[in-house]
Amino acid sequence: MKTASLLRVRGIVQGVGFRPFVYRLARAYGVTGWVLNGEDGVTIHAECEPLALAAFIEDLELKAPPAARIAEIEVQSTTADGSSNFAIRESRRKDQPTVHISPDLPVCEDCLRELFDAENPRYLYPYINCTNCGPRYSVILSLPYDRPATTMSAWLFDEFCGGEYRDPANRRFHAQPIACSRCGPNYVLRHEGRELRGIAAIRETAALLRSGAIVAVKGLGGYHLACDAGNSASVWAMRERKFRKEKPFALMVRNIELAHTLTQLDPEAEQLLNSIARPIVLAKARMQLQGVAPDNDELGLMLPYTPIEHLLFDAGAPDVLVMTSANRSNEPIAYQDEDALQRLAGIADAFLIGERPIARRVDDSVARAGVFGPVVLRRARGFAPAAVATLPARGPILALGADLKNSITLVVDSQAFMSQHIGDLDHQDARRAYRETIRDLLFMYGVQWEDLIVVHDAHPQYVSTQYALTLPAPEICAVQHHRAHVASVLAERGEMNKPVLGISFDGTGYGDDGAIWGGEFFAGSVSEGFERVAHLRPAVLPGGDAATRFPVQAASGFLAQVDCWPDFAAAPFKFPTLYRHAARLVERNFRCSLTTSVGRLFDTAAALLGFTRKVTFEGQAAMWLECLAAQAQVAEPYPFPFINPELDFRPLLGAVISDRLGGRPVHAIARGFQKGIAVGVHDAAAQLCDQLRLDTVVLSGGVFQNELLLSDLKSLFSQSGLDVWTNHQVPPNDGGISLGQSALAIFAVQAINQQGAQADQMPVAL
Ligand code: ZN
Ligand code: FE
Repeated sequence: MKTASLLRVRGIVQGVGFRPFVYRLARAYGVTGWVLNGEDGVTIHAECEPLALAAFIEDLELKAPPAARIAEIEVQSTTADGSSNFAIRESRRKDQPTVHISPDLPVCEDCLRELFDAENPRYLYPYINCTNCGPRYSVILSLPYDRPATTMSAWLFDEFCGGEYRDPANRRFHAQPIACSRCGPNYVLRHEGRELRGIAAIRETAALLRSGAIVAVKGLGGYHLACDAGNSASVWAMRERKFRKEKPFALMVRNIELAHTLTQLDPEAEQLLNSIARPIVLAKARMQLQGVAPDNDELGLMLPYTPIEHLLFDAGAPDVLVMTSANRSNEPIAYQDEDALQRLAGIADAFLIGERPIARRVDDSVARAGVFGPVVLRRARGFAPAAVATLPARGPILALGADLKNSITLVVDSQAFMSQHIGDLDHQDARRAYRETIRDLLFMYGVQWEDLIVVHDAHPQYVSTQYALTLPAPEICAVQHHRAHVASVLAERGEMNKPVLGISFDGTGYGDDGAIWGGEFFAGSVSEGFERVAHLRPAVLPGGDAATRFPVQAASGFLAQVDCWPDFAAAPFKFPTLYRHAARLVERNFRCSLTTSVGRLFDTAAALLGFTRKVTFEGQAAMWLECLAAQAQVAEPYPFPFINPELDFRPLLGAVISDRLGGRPVHAIARGFQKGIAVGVHDAAAQLCDQLRLDTVVLSGGVFQNELLLSDLKSLFSQSGLDVWTNHQVPPNDGGISLGQSALAIFAVQAINQQGAQADQMPVAL
């Protein structure tokens, strides 16, 4: 006897070849009925024998396409309509779409084989893709995911592509972005007033790269600037033209063997490199490439992930390419052709322009196989906009993130969707990109301002805060920066009620008392809130924001509290005069604030060990110090005592100063300093956990990107039997803040609503 069932499949099931897969499966099991893309996933009407149905459902999960992620399958019985075949029906529109949009996918093995098969109609065609691979988020204009709603809408299928698209037995059955060189877009090279198209353009680009040129190449989510990483003249030219003095460049290598040659890749790192997101993976360098990553012992590598990149290597491009976001210093990545041609005019010697438009800018992601497991350090291409957590939210929430390394999170139907990395909001263009991304995400998920809870950082001067206060949302609340860091780890794990000791160390964040925090210990849970229980001993920070750019300026306030006080202008310190000016501000307590920032403490140590110049990117001095320390053998930790509730940096810096005066090698001092930090943090945590009866420690904040510190902490904590939780899905730096904000906002708003009469009061700071 046949039964009829309605199956609702939720998760990442659109744009990943799911409907054709269902179709083929239904055929195999003799299931009749239909499948369609709804706005909350895929709906299947299945009629067959009950046993066949059970097997069909089992295989739905077991044999799903590689990029699909099934969250749940809901089965309901329904009335049979007596259909005699199985069909893919037109997509259905609904008011509240909560479908999961697939991130972009790397070109698959099958397509790669065809790409280099001279007999294949798509031989050397740079936009080859299928239901298992290719662009998704970067081409989707609106939902549901169908060709007219993508940036491929301008191209009509020819007979060949249309045939494949309509053939249920074909790998490209209902693959929305497919095309071929006859009916689809192609690549065009513009160089010195000449234009070449198709494979000729690709070959010429490869030749240009070989000859040392800088070429802007359109990728999935924006333009890259590419040059030969082995040609130091090209690399330095890139730095000069991009106004990017020292920040490391990412590399794209032809294959995994080359990745092994360049870096020490452990199996986890290799797995990350090959993972479906194909992120830039940071790994210890085996060799230095001039100008690529100055003063850094890591290299950031990625493998080719689009057909155009495979074609460039095949056409003879250098084996190792610098592949960096096409922009000037901190601007957002260029993704529209006209804009790119204009903005990159003085940087790129030539432009390899892809004719397929990009729907939204998506940078490359960055990840690392860290001592506590894989961690995403920049969440963008290949990850965004997938859900990162399930949260117990009643309605939609928009969390606006922090002003540096910004990302936003939108919670819809309890799913937390994190946007791609947007960047630092100190540029006009970045702010525009920020507003665009917010509008875009709200539009994709059909969320109205009237229904939203908006969450922002507690910093009153943040761009994101000021933006939040202009929004027409009924509820707007503030969340303290470091509590958001801690909550981001717990949100990832779905642990809303778990009481923990949360340690948040980073550069800057606005504290409850208006001071600049960044060395904080909290006790509590996401649902009950976090109480600050301990912190770094406060220091004076002169001159506000500028102190983050000059380590010696940050040092002046910390050093003012240290007893032994040599002449820092003299050898071996040789601080520039800026230090004297800053120290004078500290003396007079003029234009000064208080800080508990561990980031600034690292800056101070870096300054004492020789980093006395200006930093050119966030966290540079701390990275420099970590790299220095990594060159030393294990050293005795310098004292960093915890005198509840303060970690006292004075003995720590005192030891650094006296060893430096005593002529101890700087890398050994750096190692002793780092080890001292680890021991101090561990001892403080152990004491607090004991006192507060906690068994789990959460580490988050930019400082915890320091692998050396993490490995010291890992061995210390494993001895004391405390569990340590860190970020994996979202960055421990400010890129993960928006997830923590959204989790904390759920309970903050509940608390306000429980106060009833005061429900319409002003925003609360958690
Ligand atoms: Zn494919
Ligand atoms: Fe932070």
